[in-house]
Order: sequence, then structure tokens, then C-alpha cells
Amino acid sequence: MSSDTVRVLLIEDDPIQARLIQKLLADRRDPSFAVTVADRLAAGLKRLGEGGTDLVLLDLILPDSQELETFVRVKAQAPDVPVIVQTGIADAMMAGRAVEQGAQDYLVKDHITSASLLRSIRYVMERSRARTGEWNSPMFRLAQQQFLKAAQIMGLDDNLRQRLLFPQRTQMVSFPFRRERSEDIETVFGYRVQHVLTMGPTKGGIRYHQDVNLGEVAALAMWMTWKCALMSLPFGGAKGGVRVDPGTLTKAELERLTRRYTSEIISMIGPDKDIPAPDLGTDERVMAWIMDTYSQQVGYTVPAVVTGKPVVLGGSLGRKEATGRGLVYVIEEAAKHIGFGLTEATAVVQGFGNVGMHVAKFLADCGVKVIAVSDVTTGIYHPAGLSIDAVLGHVERNRVLAGYPGAEPIGNPEMLELPCDILVPAALQQQITIENAPRLSCKLLAEGANGPTTLEADEILHERGIFVLPDILANAGGVTVSYFEWVQGLQNYMWSIEEINARLRTILIDAFGRTLRRARQDGVDMRTAAVIEGVQRITDAKLLRGLFP
Ligand code: NAD
Repeated sequence: MSSDTVRVLLIEDDPIQARLIQKLLADRRDPSFAVTVADRLAAGLKRLGEGGTDLVLLDLILPDSQELETFVRVKAQAPDVPVIVQTGIADAMMAGRAVEQGAQDYLVKDHITSASLLRSIRYVMERSRARTGEWNSPMFRLAQQQFLKAAQIMGLDDNLRQRLLFPQRTQMVSFPFRRERSEDIETVFGYRVQHVLTMGPTKGGIRYHQDVNLGEVAALAMWMTWKCALMSLPFGGAKGGVRVDPGTLTKAELERLTRRYTSEIISMIGPDKDIPAPDLGTDERVMAWIMDTYSQQVGYTVPAVVTGKPVVLGGSLGRKEATGRGLVYVIEEAAKHIGFGLTEATAVVQGFGNVGMHVAKFLADCGVKVIAVSDVTTGIYHPAGLSIDAVLGHVERNRVLAGYPGAEPIGNPEMLELPCDILVPAALQQQITIENAPRLSCKLLAEGANGPTTLEADEILHERGIFVLPDILANAGGVTVSYFEWVQGLQNYMWSIEEINARLRTILIDAFGRTLRRARQDGVDMRTAAVIEGVQRITDAKLLRGLFP
């Protein structure tokens, strides 16, 4: 469920019951609730007509309306707003009829507890979102707009444009997993999306985050397609996700969730079909569980079904730090192109997870002064440069940046606008927007995260002469070493770290050079140039393969 406030309209004439519900929903976070009470149906309908209601909690017996008619009138007024009906024990049959007519759930008044009420609301909101809002994601719109811009500049034919605008295969699953208290079972939604099946198996990470939806996963799968094509890897793009906040799960819960999710999508994945990897909220331990679950199902060990797994299970040397390392390889190239030296440069890094912490470390190793970094708990700032080793030590001990003693705290919005040479968003999507793009004060924006910049912000950055290393180029180190890991798995042969880093550098520098040439030749920004490079390779392949039948 989103972390936004859920606007609840409670239509209830009994003031004691109304107070009880308000009390149960008060002071809740993630989500929080704004409850409005109407004590007559007429007042409730009026309020519904004004819009802005996410959910109705409805008593069916009201002074001005009785039984099923109450529900029917609410539904007629706001057909898209989910309704949970409340009834007395004696009226349970009536609740069943309301559910048949389209109520999402019902609660028996005398049995309502904080847990039952929250669970009911959560599932109702999830189901309602699953039906209506799944594709309706700003990230998917962004990915489609970026593609359409490139397609228009390329003069791509209509048929290819339409074929690439939506993923070829999507699977959405809803599945239960057991929480620590074994009587608590939670149901969550998961996804696996394969955007292009033309190039070979599909490849893409798995994200655990409380806001994941189909549109977001589809956007990420589309970006994977262009990224793999830009790097000349023999993969189409894919992505997966589970809508859950991994920070709220114990290790055992995370394992149970991962194993169940794997078995739900097992028909889609495989070393020759679709190969998952880590992304936001997942790591090498999660990959080990996926590999084990898959291997248990097929009856033998299949290391090449995932990448980003621990080295002892066939993971590649250098995979964990590959995205950060790759970013620094292309930052070096971009700095040469722009004309500044890394030893005199300053950097700001948003996000201190897998990508962010390695970027910060490798930049510091190159002599860059990293003046600020952040994670979900806080930002920390030191104008003379942070000691990244000390920060890494703090995070190793405490898991988060909060409480780091050697720097000033700084808010995320202010941090992005700090004067610096290199700004690296390496946390979430849509961080650089029309609001803050005019105030960014960097020479180079190197996108560690996927989709951190909106389309409008891109135009502003282009006009302002800020050089952008777009995500599909800048963070491609991860999938490139994943490709090496997959090849090593198929060959049963380990490469040395020197060989991996050298090959990674060659591939990234080549892609940087091609993107820069394309940008100059077509007179476009680096992102559009990178997307064009990727789309061109996919469309060439599609045309050569022809159309079946
Ligand atoms: P991660 O889960 O390891 O780390 C995410 C970091 O972002 C954490 O430090 C978290 O605290 C921080 N964060 C979360 N919300 C934040 C907020 N509101 N403000 C500031 N910081 C916040 O994830 P990751 O693997 O490092 O991925 C980060 C981004 O990089 C994602 O967009 C992902 O798709 C992209 N990416 C990752 C890889 C990879 O190999 N892991 C490869 C390519 C792209």
C-alpha cells in the first residue's frame, strides 16, 4: 500500500461506533488515515459527490436508508470508490448480499479490532488498485514518453513503435506468506514483466518496495531492454517486483516471501528464459533463496537462473560493486569530455545502498571529495569531504546513516541542490523534477537509480547545459557483470576480478562513445541518444527475424 494518506468516509449514525473507528485509525502511519464522518446517508452521498474519497466504511442501517438500498445508493454515487460494509452480527447475511453486489469486504461490528480493520482496508485498497491503477504509473508514462521521443526522432515505423510500447509478457500474482506469528498470514502482490523476447533470454532485477505496481515494473523492464541493447548484451529486458516493505520483515519472513514468489513465477524464469537479479530492496541472499527454490523444483542445481548471487554459489567476482564501479568508469569519461579533473571535483550521492555506497567509495578512491550522501533515514554533509571509509564503517555497524557523528545532517531536497561537480541520484525514481531542476548546481548528473529524472526536468537540464549520464548507460555496470556471471555459470568457469573489471570498462567506454557520437550526430541529449542506440538494435533484430506466422 502506498505511504500516502487514505481518505476514509465513514457513514455511520452510531456516535460510539464512529468514535471507535476513528480511534482505531488515529495516529497510524504508512498509511495514515483522514477520516470524515457522515451520520446520514444523504450527508455521505453529498460528501462522496464532492470527490476526494479513497474508501467508504458503510453502516447499512441508517435513519434515512435501510439495508441493501444503502449500499446500492452509495455505489451509484461513486462506482469506483471501494466500500467496506459494517453490519451487526444479526445482519451478516445482508453483508454477504452487499459483497455480491460489489462491496469489497465486510466487518461485523462487535468483532472489529485494530488489526482486522487495518487488514480489511489494506486488502481492499490493494484489490482496487490491482483492478484500476496498475498500469497508471508515472514511471511507465515516463518510460513510454522517452521511447516515443526517440521513436519520433528515428522515424520508427508505426508497427514497431506499437510493438515496443507495451511489454510482450506480464504476470501478476497475488500470494500469501506467513508472518512470524504463525497465525498471521499476509497476502501481497507480485509481478514479473518481460518487455522484449527477441534478443535471447530476458534479464532484469527484482524489486521489493511498498509502492511497486505493474506500471513501475513495466517501465523498469522497458529500460532494461534499451540498456542491454546499448551494451550489446544478448538479452531482452525484464523486471520483477513484490509490493511489500522489506524493512518491516524479519529474515525468516523475507525468505518465506521470496520462496513463495519464486514458485509463483517459476514458469516464466530459467537460465534460457528469464534471469532475475537484485534491485531495490533485494540482495545476494534473496538471489540465493530464488536459486535454491528453483533448483528444488527442477531437481538439480541451476546457478545460472539468477545473477547477483553469493560468490560461493557461483556468483561473479565484482558483481556486488559492479553498478557503482561502472558508474565511476563512465563518470571518468564524462569528466574528460566536460573538461574537469576528478582529483579537484566534489560529489553528492543520494542513496547509500548497493549502488550509492559503491559509487561513493570508488569516487573517493579516485580522489573526488564526496561532500554529502543520504539514505532513507537522513542526509549527511561535510563541506571538506566525508571520510567514506568511516561512513561505511558506521553503516556496517548500524545499517543506516542516521547517527553518523562526523557530519551535519541535511535534508534530501537541499542535498540535491548543493553546489558540486557530480550529482549521483542512486535511490529512487523521479527525484529530479520540474521543481528542483532549475536549482541543481552540478556540472554532471550521473544517474545510478533508474528513472530519477522526469521528462520536463530533462529539458531544463539540457537547456542549462548540465551533462547527463542517463540511467541506461550510467548504471549498466550491474547488468553487464550479471551477463558475465551468467556466462561463467553456463561455462562452469570463473573469471578473475581483473578480467571482469577490464571487460566491464571496455564495454561501458564503448557504449559511452557511441552514445556521445549519436547525440552529436542527431543533435539530441544523451538520454535520447542512448535510447535511440538501444531501440535501433532491437528494431534491427526484429526486422531480421521477421514476423511469425
Ligand atoms: P538498495 O535497496 O541497496 O539501496 C537503496 C538506497 O536508497 C538505500 O540506502 C535507501 O536507504 C535509500 N533510499 C530509499 N529511499 C530514499 C529516499 N527517499 N531518500 C534518500 N535515500 C533513500 O538499492 P540499490 O540496489 O542500491 O538500487 C538503487 C537504485 O539503483 C534503484 O533505482 C535501482 O533500480 C538502481 N539500480 C540498481 C542496480 C543494482 O545492481 N543494484 C543496478 C542498476 C540500477
